Amino acid sequence: MRHVTIIGSGPAGLTAAIYAARANLSPLVIEGLQAGGQLTTTTEVENYPGFHHAVMGPDLMKAMRAQAERFGTEFLQGEVSAVDLTRSPFTVTIEGEQTIESRTLIIATGASAVHLGLPSESRLMGHGVSTCATCDGYFFRGKELVVVGGGDSAVEEATFLTKFATRVSLVHRRDKLRASKIMQDRAFKNEKITFVWNSIVEEILGDPMVTGVRLRNVVTGATSELPCAGLFVAIGHSPNTALFEGQLDRDAKGYLLTRNGTATSAPGVFAAGDVQDSRYRQAVTAAGSGCMAAIDAERFLESLGHSS
Ligand code: NAP
Repeated sequence: MRHVTIIGSGPAGLTAAIYAARANLSPLVIEGLQAGGQLTTTTEVENYPGFHHAVMGPDLMKAMRAQAERFGTEFLQGEVSAVDLTRSPFTVTIEGEQTIESRTLIIATGASAVHLGLPSESRLMGHGVSTCATCDGYFFRGKELVVVGGGDSAVEEATFLTKFATRVSLVHRRDKLRASKIMQDRAFKNEKITFVWNSIVEEILGDPMVTGVRLRNVVTGATSELPCAGLFVAIGHSPNTALFEGQLDRDAKGYLLTRNGTATSAPGVFAAGDVQDSRYRQAVTAAGSGCMAAIDAERFLESLGHSS
């Protein structure tokens, strides 16, 4: 029987683990398929406090994991396939085999990249279509690339991809970026980035590899083809909450609803990080809410008369 089980190993999950471990609650972290979370697919993180000269996302996550381990956190590799939150202790099943019982749960399953939803996108995923520039950018040395989106992710990916590509076209459905000013300024100054405004990707061309995209201008309705060897989709994220459907209250977009700090609709189940935050979605806010969730779980256990 576990006191605290944490599902997810991004900044929220690992910060929750550091706090729960230091409270002698011997937490278990189920790491998920992408151990370390979204920051492991990014490059320099310049806005996480304490790193004057920026820190690489994967290095930051490695440090957080080591810190959690130092205080006695246990880790389990694998993906949760089912949970039963209808009675306490809660049960968590990993990959349909191993089952864990826990008095409290901290859900920090984060969010995943949204896809365009085109049949050609699924057909060519991994064959020139990608949602992770840091993972796949290296394969496109000397090629022309397209990035879709207008937020921080798209601008960051476009800028990063100029290290490899000869030209990056950033296709955005409006004529203004959503990305932060500093990242926009950097991209506008980058001679390898071309902006294609008011346009959407209607079709990804090529078989078996990407050779281009068909664009439609949403103002004029005109279509055009843009040759490229790769398409990076960076149009936002959606929360990983399918596991909890029908067991925890969610908002219209699927984010877990929390109140009084990090409490979900099931007493003893807490949520932290992007899985419950459609608004800020920053590493530092995720870490902050992970800390809150661990403290909330500790107080919940105390209220039941359980201590470490
Ligand atoms: P985001 O801010 O939600 O931006 C998504 C972008 O994709 C928007 O520009 C949106 O267009 C566009 N879009 C959405 N659906 C689309 C569709 N079906 N077709 C075409 N375009 C579509 O998502 P994000 O860029 O992934 O960023 C998520 C959060 O992480 C943000 O809070 C961001 O600040 C943060 N982040 C920070 C950093 C950093 O600080 N280094 C890096 C990456 C992400 P509209 O603008 O028209 O809505």
